Parts: sequence; structure tokens; C-alpha cells
Amino acid sequence: MSQLWSPFVKNLVPYVPGEQPKMTRLVKLNTNENPYGPSPKAVAAMQAELTDDLRLYPDPNGDKLKQSVADYYGVKTSQVFVGNGSDEVLAHAFHGLFQHGKPLLFPDISYSFYPVYCGLYGIEAKQIPLDDEFQIDVDDLINGGENSGIIFPNPNAPTGRLLPLVAIEKLLQHNTQSVVLVDEAYVDFGGESAIALVNKYPNLLVTQTLSKSRSLAGMRVGLAVGHEDLIEALERVKNSFNSYPLDRVTLAGAAAAFDDREYFHETCNKVIASREQVAAGLAALGFDVLPSAANFVFARHPQKDAADIAAALREQGIIVRHFKTERIAQFLRITIGTDEQNQILLDALQSL
Ligand code: PMP
Repeated sequence: MSQLWSPFVKNLVPYVPGEQPKMTRLVKLNTNENPYGPSPKAVAAMQAELTDDLRLYPDPNGDKLKQSVADYYGVKTSQVFVGNGSDEVLAHAFHGLFQHGKPLLFPDISYSFYPVYCGLYGIEAKQIPLDDEFQIDVDDLINGGENSGIIFPNPNAPTGRLLPLVAIEKLLQHNTQSVVLVDEAYVDFGGESAIALVNKYPNLLVTQTLSKSRSLAGMRVGLAVGHEDLIEALERVKNSFNSYPLDRVTLAGAAAAFDDREYFHETCNKVIASREQVAAGLAALGFDVLPSAANFVFARHPQKDAADIAAALREQGIIVRHFKTERIAQFLRITIGTDEQNQILLDALQSL
């Protein structure tokens, strides 16, 4: 078939998402989904959309959802972009903001989709090593040389480590000529959003997802907040690619999920409390656990091989994520589940 492919396709290295096993009754702690369901108000809003109106196209601009996001963060709707999962929002940012013929800077250990988008959009990737504590050092990014942009998750994935806003602000003060994109997929589990800084720094773009803290991974909704000019670039790319990335059901559910602040805070707080219990339980079993501000923990055992632990857990129907990447090959990334799931995990580890 390959002679029918566009030449660049041969060199693509696609992203490999975490497994979505078909078996039931698993303790699935491998893809950072929320253990609790979405807001009941979001579910009701989605059900209310299942009418004959589905024959009509959805709002191409997603105005109602943008309004809910703008209200939540106290910004203008023209500062909000919405898309089909934050992966799509990130893709449009790579395409629309990072193609300047210079390298894009990101940490050596971070979201593994970044190098994939670099490959797709022909952007040179320059990976800046995390320090020995697996922390981003903004001075290393500042000294990273000429760039067409800087991107990192905060909290970082898969480490879970959080960078404080003062450090992000220092980076923005030094890096004024290219976009700094803060990927806040996990920020609601213990971080402070850099959206607070977007009116001060016109080159700051913040992306978020409804897949984690708002428990809508199955609906695919992501967003970006930043200066209107940055948002306009994303809109231009989006409207040259797919005018209707979000369907009617999804738009209604996502807006309702943003509006139901009570449920959101309640479920985030439950996940945070469980995370602290899991971290303590793992530490009691001898694991080194990195401090996490996300809905997962990143941990290694000084004596036991991570791949062996993952395989043994799997035999007991418990799935966690193991990356065969240098530097982190001895770590496991474990999503926080319900308290019952977390206990099953800790019991299984104890018996190993
Ligand atoms: N950024 C980071 C750091 C992530 O871990 C993920 C989830 N895989 C995403 C973005 C994408 O999330 P989604 O496309 O579900 O919004």
C-alpha cells in the first residue's frame, strides 16, 4: 500500500494511547480516568439533546460552552477555544502557533503526544531534561535557546509534579517572543491555573480537558484560554479542518458540567483525599512516591522491577501504566480509583 501514501506518512510515529481493555471487572488504573461519573446535571443535559434536533448541525462555535468556561474563569468568550478533546486543541496549537522553523522546547519526561505532533507538523523537538527530582527547572527552559514555543504539562505527566505559578511567571518574563503553552489536563487535582496570568502575558496559552476532573473522557472535550489573538489562530486552523468538532450532545453536557461547580469540587476533593491515602499506602510498602498534584501517582520500588510488578498486577486484573522509557523505566503510573479499587491495588501489592 505504501506507494499510495503521501511520503511523509511513512515517517510518522503515531501516539499509542493507554489500553482500553474489553474485559469487564478490571481494576483499571492505567489511563487517568475519573473513578466517579460525570455530573448528573451533565448527564441530564446530554439526554435532553437526544431529540429530532440531532438532524441539525451543532453550533460550530460552541458559544454556550465558551460562555460557561468564560464565566468560570472570569475571562471573555473571545479568549476561549473549544475542541474535540485537549489533544485536538493541542494539535491546532502546534499547527497554528509553533511552526516557525525553530525548535519547540519541552521536558524530556512529559506528555508523549508532544513529539508525535512535532512529527506530524514538521516541528523540531528539543527536549530539556527534568532535574534529578523529576521537577521542571524553568531556568533550563529559559536557557534552552531560540525556540518557536515552549510547552509542558502542569502538573507534569506522568510525574504528577507541580510547578508553582511564580515559576511559570518567571518563564513568561524571560520568554516573550514565542508562545508558552501550559497543558493543565490535571490542574484541578491540586494546582493553581495559569489562566490567572493570561491577561498579563499575551503569549501564554493554557489548555485544559474535561476528560479528567469533569469525568467526560468519553465525550472528548478540551479547551484553551489565552489572548484573543492566540485564540483566533486556533479558530483559523479549526475552521480550515473541521467546522463542527463538538456535537450537540457533547456541547450541552460539557456546558452543564462546567456549570455544576458543587459536584465538580466534591468529586475532585474525593480524588485528592484518596490520592493521599494511596501515596501513604505505597510508601508503607517501601515505594518511593513522587509528590503528586494530579489524579495519579508515579512510584518506584527500590527492589522490585516495575515491569514485573505491572505484569503481576495484570494477572490479578489490575492495570497500571508502565512506560519503557529511559529514566522512568522503573516507575509505575497509577491512576487514583475509588477507595475500594485503591484498596484492591494496595492489597495486591502487599501480597506481591
Ligand atoms: N495532556 C495531557 C498531559 C494528558 O495526559 C492528556 C490525556 N492523555 C491530554 C492532554 C489529552 O486529554 P484529552 O484529549 O482527553 O482532553
